[in-house]
Amino acid sequence: MSVLVIIPAAGSGSRFGASIPKQFQPIGGKPLVQYVVERFLMSDKVDRVVVAVADALLSIVKQTPQDRVQFVAGGDTRQQSVIKALAAADSEYDVVAVHDAVRPFFKMTTFDLLIDEARKHGAAFPALPLTDTIHATRDGRLSATIDRSNLVAAQTPQCFRFDVLRDSLTRAERENFSATDEAGLAAHFGYDVRVVVGDPFNIKITRAEDLALAEAHFEEWSRE
Ligand code: C5P
Repeated sequence: MSVLVIIPAAGSGSRFGASIPKQFQPIGGKPLVQYVVERFLMSDKVDRVVVAVADALLSIVKQTPQDRVQFVAGGDTRQQSVIKALAAADSEYDVVAVHDAVRPFFKMTTFDLLIDEARKHGAAFPALPLTDTIHATRDGRLSATIDRSNLVAAQTPQCFRFDVLRDSLTRAERENFSATDEAGLAAHFGYDVRVVVGDPFNIKITRAEDLALAEAHFEEWSRE
């Protein structure tokens, strides 16, 4: 069985509020994206990692060639970056995992389970039930309270059979449809997308405060 990992890392990271995009901020002394790539390379299931980075950075990162790792220029949206990374993959794989560059603490055991579920059913993603109360607002006022009992917060890595991801992305391009993650895209096109229990520590580093939390968690995590 062959597994390809795609890491979209071409965002500008505007919510982070620093001149260096969040995916290049340091965790344990190395850029987040490098840390994430190296974690995937620890898995003997992973044959190749394709990282989509901003055009301007491509010539710089390409100077550090690494076995099993390939860099490509990303697109204007996360979805475009994933499309470009998949197009650059040298061959077909059994399973493709798409993972945010800014989630350093994914668990290998969850990744293995996601690969198995994707192989069996077509697609699988990790998620956690919501614990906060969810309200809709309009003009600064609470307008409705949402029933959270069926809601989950999606994480990555999200895993797909190769044909499922390629078909979902191709149809999305053709129909000008966009989604904020690939699990949503595959479900939109009628594929069976299974939910696997995620992990509270698999946080997405989005704001500057998240990085401080991540550093605090890092020491404990690296002893795992
Ligand atoms: O913006 P958001 O936090 O949802 O981005 C999720 C991931 O998608 C990040 O790793 C980011 O670098 C990546 N991305 C990308 N190309 C874009 C926009 C976002 O690869 N044009």
